[in-house]
Amino acid sequence: MLSRSSVCLLINGVRSYSTAASERVVGFIGLGNMGGHQAANLIKKGHKVIVYDISQDNVNRLKDKGALVASSPSELAKKADVIVTMLPASAHVKSVYCGDNGIFKSIKPGTLLLDSSTIDPQTAREVADIATKHNSTLLDCPVSGGTGGAEAGTLTFMVGGKEADFERAKPYLQAMGKNIVHCGDVGTGQAAKVCNNLVLGISMVGVSEAMNLGVKLGIDPKKLAGIFNTSSARCWSSELYNPCPGVLENSPASRGYTGGFGSALMNKDLGLAVDSAKSLGEPLPLGTTAHQFYTMMVQKGLGNKDFSVAYEFLQKTKQ
Ligand code: NAD
Repeated sequence: MLSRSSVCLLINGVRSYSTAASERVVGFIGLGNMGGHQAANLIKKGHKVIVYDISQDNVNRLKDKGALVASSPSELAKKADVIVTMLPASAHVKSVYCGDNGIFKSIKPGTLLLDSSTIDPQTAREVADIATKHNSTLLDCPVSGGTGGAEAGTLTFMVGGKEADFERAKPYLQAMGKNIVHCGDVGTGQAAKVCNNLVLGISMVGVSEAMNLGVKLGIDPKKLAGIFNTSSARCWSSELYNPCPGVLENSPASRGYTGGFGSALMNKDLGLAVDSAKSLGEPLPLGTTAHQFYTMMVQKGLGNKDFSVAYEFLQKTKQ
């Protein structure tokens, strides 16, 4: 039975809800370093949120904040009108959407799917095509801004999909972010994200190399970072996420490289950039080198440490 305010229209076999955004149930799958904060912000903004994650600890954290809990993606899909996913990589996205107990097993027609994970544009398009066959809509909505931005609700969302669907998605994305950018058709959000992280991966290695060299040459790291940040070396990796412990109080570097953006995830993103460049025959000299560098860090067991651990890795490496 529908409430008076939730008039359900049947258009071409697809249900479209005129319910106010705050009355719809928002499902959230993937409650890690980023998703945990994003789901909490949806709750804070008054949305009714139902969550699922394979990690019980992560589920419990959200349950304590007022979320309902589903036992599988498929159970969550039965109850949600909008579903946000924030998963590590393409394989996880495919299994959560298309797996045996996946979202598509029991999705309601008209459901809006917002995939915030960073994956390759091709997978985003494939899953979006399957969503269309289920009379639902998937937009790729990867983010930038780190765990700090996720917690503060100031993320940048790079969104791929039709303009009208983008407008439908906005109220939910605005509950988690500040800059909501429509990039174009499905897949273009991921294209923007992959290019953003190509710059980020390279710049973090650059800042780490320069900070390490400067410290070894006898300069105080805070002083050196201060000079970078008022000079031509200024960039996000130096100013807001400096990899040298003690330069910034709240950076992952100052808490043992924990709770940020894992080196394994950066390695994955640079791999996406390398693959995209290869498929188009475009040159990627620094991106390829940075990818090899992060692969080496992952092989040395640093995959779960924040990617700014590049500094410590260099510090301990002698030529
Ligand atoms: P994370 O590893 O901290 O979190 C991933 C979550 O997904 C975990 O809670 C994990 O248990 C859950 N998960 C994995 N497989 C699952 C499954 N099959 N079903 C349900 N849950 C499952 O990763 P994160 O740092 O939150 O990053 C998530 C995504 O966001 C990645 O694609 C990453 O590249 C991207 N991203 C991360 C950052 C960052 O700073 N951490 C910034 C921008 C984008």
